[in-house]
Amino acid sequence: MKRVYTSSDLLIVGHLAEVLKRRNINRLVRNLYLTGGAGELPPTAIWPELWVDDEDYELARRLIDEVLGNNAATPPAWVCSGCGERIEGQFAACWKCAAPAPPEQ
Ligand SMILES: [Zn+2]
Repeated sequence: MKRVYTSSDLLIVGHLAEVLKRRNINRLVRNLYLTGGAGELPPTAIWPELWVDDEDYELARRLIDEVLGNNAATPPAWVCSGCGERIEGQFAACWKCAAPAPPEQ
């Protein structure tokens, strides 16, 4: 497997893992629970990491870039059909009630 992404922000790593799951990409999140007692480890050593199979690396990398807006326009915000919350376009599901985003146009 290859490490495709790491961030100190667990929410982003978790969201990206969910995006890969929706594409049926086998993925693994490491260091998810190593948040305390790090001792002498350098800070980046305990960041959550997202790993994928070697053959899925390029696709995963591209999806992550899309989600993070690195090389594509961020999709427009959408309004949740479940609870009416306004959701930023990069999210595939409502953070409040977990309803999925409407299909892409
Ligand atoms: Zn909702």
